[in-house]
Amino acid sequence: MNTRISHITYYIDLHSAYVQFLGCNFNCPWCIRKLTPWDHHLGNDELVRLRFQGGLLGINEFLEIIDNAINQYGMEEAVLGGEEPTIDPAYL
Ligand code: SF4
Repeated sequence: MNTRISHITYYIDLHSAYVQFLGCNFNCPWCIRKLTPWDHHLGNDELVRLRFQGGLLGINEFLEIIDNAINQYGMEEAVLGGEEPTIDPAYL
């Protein structure tokens, strides 16, 4: 099953992943996602290199990435955000 996860960024110093979803059922006027679909913490030099490769993560791919982040980088937490994670049908 596919999720609505578009990308995941990892903060080495914080041992924290930021899981970024596509889709939101709100329309906040201040929404930062109207400026960029990417994690807004990324710098301009990183943003210019990014290309959306047309796929959302499957749930098994997501679990594999999280397992690798824990085992290889000592990930301690994951923040769900970007847009609205609670409307992802993979989590219902
Ligand atoms: S992504 Fe966040 S800020 Fe943007 S419309 Fe949805 S709830 Fe509002």
